[in-house]
Amino acid sequence: MEKFAGVNEEKIREYARLVVCTGVNVQPGQEIVIQCPAEHYAFGRLLVEEAYRAGAGEVIVHWSDSLCSRQFYQNASKERLAFVPEWLAESRNYYSRRGAGYISVAGSDPEAFKGIEPRRMQVRNAAMDRAMKEHYKLMMASEIPWTVAAVPQREWAAKVFPGLEEDKAMSRLWESILKAVRIDGGDAVKAWEEHDRFLKEKCRMLNEYGFARLHYQNQIGTDFVVGLTKGHIWEGGSELAGTGTVFEANMPTEEIFTMPDNRIADGTLVSAMPLSYNGNLIRDFRLTFRDGQVVDYEAEEGGEVLKSLLETDEGSRRLGEVAIVPHGSPISRMNTLFYNTLFDENASCHFALGNCYPTTVKDGGAMSDEELAAVGGNSSATHVDFMVGTEDLCITGILESGEEILFFENGAWVK
Ligand code: ZN
Ligand code: ZN
Repeated sequence: MEKFAGVNEEKIREYARLVVCTGVNVQPGQEIVIQCPAEHYAFGRLLVEEAYRAGAGEVIVHWSDSLCSRQFYQNASKERLAFVPEWLAESRNYYSRRGAGYISVAGSDPEAFKGIEPRRMQVRNAAMDRAMKEHYKLMMASEIPWTVAAVPQREWAAKVFPGLEEDKAMSRLWESILKAVRIDGGDAVKAWEEHDRFLKEKCRMLNEYGFARLHYQNQIGTDFVVGLTKGHIWEGGSELAGTGTVFEANMPTEEIFTMPDNRIADGTLVSAMPLSYNGNLIRDFRLTFRDGQVVDYEAEEGGEVLKSLLETDEGSRRLGEVAIVPHGSPISRMNTLFYNTLFDENASCHFALGNCYPTTVKDGGAMSDEELAAVGGNSSATHVDFMVGTEDLCITGILESGEEILFFENGAWVK
């Protein structure tokens, strides 16, 4: 198979440069840690090259392979699964302490771990989280810059474009990803700067309004009111790292999002796109809420899966995220289901069932679980985005005073 499925290598290099410069924003002398699946070695090498070109002090690459990981999950003893050697944990913690930047290359077989006992993977993931706590804490608090970007992979491409032969599906997925990250002939770095300014402007506007509630309506049956937490903060686009540089954690990113009050949600939400959950599809579904909780649901397909999602725990029947994405976003216009949240959540206005993002409420990062719950922050072991944005979706903001302001009409910003 041709390198990059026949897609112009200069464009791929531009993508690598964008990930390095706009994504993690490499600084002179900085250490950069790249996590890359071995099958994407050609893209990984471009990242290394571009990182050094941007002045990186050293680029450390951790190659991974889902087939090797699968062998480990299958064969390791329980004790081994739970054992993370010090050097492995330190390979993350050490560089994070020193303010390194992290690039994670996504793009693997969506069914790589099919059939592996979920419990075994949980044991491993929990052990890794514990051992690399220092690293994850610095990352989640944006103390260090990090970014996630995707590269096409055969099985993934075949799933997204089932009607195409392998090579065609791969090049289609490359083209879609490049389009999604705004590499389309112009100056991509500049396009990202403009896009970021736009997202920041929308956040600023909604933060100034400080709506108490949002009312969603469209023709397919959505008629829904959700409360926002007092002191909620709209976020989106770039973030400022503790190291003093600006970075983009997700490429692409089209959403701005905030924290719903998990006690206030009433009415019906109708899905606008199928939801891919744990390798299963839930299609044409609707959720009915009362007092913040899903009290009724139906699905044309995948009803059982939806049921298991809703029954995960107490918090999985309530909302943890409200996100706005215009219907005209580049990903939305592709009208493609990517089976990957990095893309799908950026195609449409969405909500998430489950855990909230603590930083989306004032002082939330420093709140205890009890304090967060007291302001209506939702907690759950799960966080699943589902899309509700249609071309005719309207969202009206309702102020504490009762005054209503229509700010999103026919799938687009009108304020
Ligand atoms: Zn989201
Ligand atoms: Zn989400």
